[in-house]
Amino acid sequence: MIVRFWGTRGSLPVAQTARTIREKIARALVAAKGRSFADEAEADRFIGEELSFAAGSSYGGATTCIEIEAGDGSFILCDLGSGLREFGLDAMRRCAEGHERTYNVFMSHVHWDHIMGFPFFVPAFDPGARIVIHSGHADAEAALRRQQEEMSFPVAFDWLRAKIEFVTVTPGTVYSVGGVNVEVMAQHHSHVSYGYRFTDADGKTAIFSTDSEHKIEQMEGEADVAHFFRNADLVICDTMYSLADSVSMKEDWGHSSNIVAIDLCHEAEAKRLALFHHEPTYSDEDLERMHRESIRYEELTRRDHPLDVLCAYDGLEVVL
Ligand SMILES: [Zn+2]
Ligand SMILES: [Zn+2]
Repeated sequence: MIVRFWGTRGSLPVAQTARTIREKIARALVAAKGRSFADEAEADRFIGEELSFAAGSSYGGATTCIEIEAGDGSFILCDLGSGLREFGLDAMRRCAEGHERTYNVFMSHVHWDHIMGFPFFVPAFDPGARIVIHSGHADAEAALRRQQEEMSFPVAFDWLRAKIEFVTVTPGTVYSVGGVNVEVMAQHHSHVSYGYRFTDADGKTAIFSTDSEHKIEQMEGEADVAHFFRNADLVICDTMYSLADSVSMKEDWGHSSNIVAIDLCHEAEAKRLALFHHEPTYSDEDLERMHRESIRYEELTRRDHPLDVLCAYDGLEVVL
């Protein structure tokens, strides 16, 4: 199983400003201490080996879209955020090389940041493509049609050429889709959200659980969540806020912290956690600090099973 992150930001897409890029370049030049590099490959090695991730790269700013490569060769996607645009272009390239043109999509929910990529999804214009949108929400089709109404967008939903189907899924049922088993869990979020547990034929398991509020003072009520995460090879978890933010001004905003996610993953004896749905106002340095603090907290609270904590970024690929 390969998990590809095409969009990792929460709520709103963000882009680097000219000022941020200049600051990164200035810091890199200072760190290089007058050294010269023969070519770009040598400079790239310096970036990878001697600069921090935040100094030499960026976590990116596209909203939720994840690809799970597993099963029978059809595409499996989680959510249709702005990261979907980039995925769509890559999928068209792979389809030209013979990839099957079925897209199985699993929707956490239909808030704007999770559907905004769909009007820009090139495969939706491919008459040979079949797009099956699985959602716990029976109103998912209405949400996608509404964002392409004439007052919001110039291209109507009915102009799309792919065969588009909607399937409503319910928690407690195990579905077999695209050669992968999929379980569904309802989560605390406005208008409800759904988490998904994907298990392939080799027994590899990835959990997609975004836009879900777990309250640190109510962790005994989260036993069902830990059970849903049980022994997972990868848990992609909503960690939008630092703990301080999540228990003070942003309580009841429908999101969770890195600390709660680590507690749940430890309880579940999961192997890897990807911090995900990053707050749009957090800089690369803020996210890197949160990642460092998360690794430290994991070490301090570890029981028998170590948990590998990743910080998801646009373009990250995890092989399970
Ligand atoms: Zn969201
Ligand atoms: Zn949401």
